[in-house]
Amino acid sequence: MNMAAPVNTDTDTADAATLIAQYGDLQGKDLLEVMIRDVFKDRIALVSSFGSESAVLIEMVADIDPSTPILFLNTGKLFGETLRYSRILGERFGLTDIRAIKPDASEIEAEDKNGLLWTRDQDACCDLRKTRPLDREIVGFDAWITGRKRFQTDARADLDLIEGAPGQIKINPLANHGMEDLQAIAKAHDLPKHPLVADGYLSIGCMPCTRRVEEGEDYRSGRWAGTDKTECGIHIGENI
Ligand code: SF4
Repeated sequence: MNMAAPVNTDTDTADAATLIAQYGDLQGKDLLEVMIRDVFKDRIALVSSFGSESAVLIEMVADIDPSTPILFLNTGKLFGETLRYSRILGERFGLTDIRAIKPDASEIEAEDKNGLLWTRDQDACCDLRKTRPLDREIVGFDAWITGRKRFQTDARADLDLIEGAPGQIKINPLANHGMEDLQAIAKAHDLPKHPLVADGYLSIGCMPCTRRVEEGEDYRSGRWAGTDKTECGIHIGENI
């Protein structure tokens, strides 16, 4: 595989365009290997929801370095099955640094004391339970790996494999992968499925904002169903 020389990537000067020029022909595990072992060694984390497709990326990262930090956004509203799945994958792949990223208790007390903010303002709830907790944690890294794919939503249709973001670079190694690609990888590696997939949940987030998907529906139609919301907010406005 291509092991080009590392670029100089100080936290504030990391340049997505430079990285794209140097590594833009890589994707998937090849791209991950360069980023984890070389360009951002000890300065990169995987952000994961431990959802229905998370095992593909986690397996790749673990095979490169199982001590790579995995930031698990535990909003306090997840399915119990998701928490169990995180433990299943952690044991299967020998992950040694899964960090549960939780909302700040004082902010919850002030803004969502009864836990029903999601019924009134889902954007505010995602900001409280996902965006702010991740913002606080991600400052310790120069780059983060996401599992976003182009096929998932219209907003992700032009997703780059390497993106600039305020303070960090985002690596999207599966951006070009389709559902069939993911299923083939999962089958080849005999990856454990999220327990809720067999129950009709195809894209899995927080329990109050995720429903089963009916035959023929878009696979992300179960997320924030009945609203025009398609993103939790942690990726909004940062694409370049
Ligand atoms: S997905 Fe729903 S419950 Fe989870 S943080 Fe967003 S609004 Fe709140």
